Amino acid sequence: MIMILTEQSLIGLPFAGHKQGRSTNLFKQIVECKICQKKLQLKNLKAHITMVHDKVKPFKCELCGKMFGTRFLVREHMESHKVG
Ligand SMILES: [Zn+2]
Ligand SMILES: [Zn+2]
Repeated sequence: MIMILTEQSLIGLPFAGHKQGRSTNLFKQIVECKICQKKLQLKNLKAHITMVHDKVKPFKCELCGKMFGTRFLVREHMESHKVG
């Protein structure tokens, strides 16, 4: 789809201002990474998770040596050690 943006069309955009949800705006939306709670743009979220969380697992459970991507996940995992 080709969109020609002139000064007039920018002013007359029907979705300017109050409405959200257009795909172009959505990508600029600031979201929170569910894993590390870092705030970043939605368009960067997938790359962030791939680069930061999918490969690197720097946090280790002191009890069983299992590796995790975040301290939070280790803490959650530790709960399973406590049971019993
Ligand atoms: Zn993250
Ligand atoms: Zn463990």
